[in-house]
Amino acid sequence: MAEKKVSCDCGKVIRESTDDQLVNAVQKHAREAHNMKLTREQVLAMSEPV
Ligand SMILES: [Zn+2]
Repeated sequence: MAEKKVSCDCGKVIRESTDDQLVNAVQKHAREAHNMKLTREQVLAMSEPV
């Protein structure tokens, strides 16, 4: 599976090799850094191929 990344509004770039890892990492960052809940669909909609 191809790597994907999400660039957060705060400047953090999260890059993972599977959708599951990306979704987990972005959800964790959003929760811890921004007190925000993101769905899997939202994370995948924000993601770009690396
Ligand atoms: Zn952020």
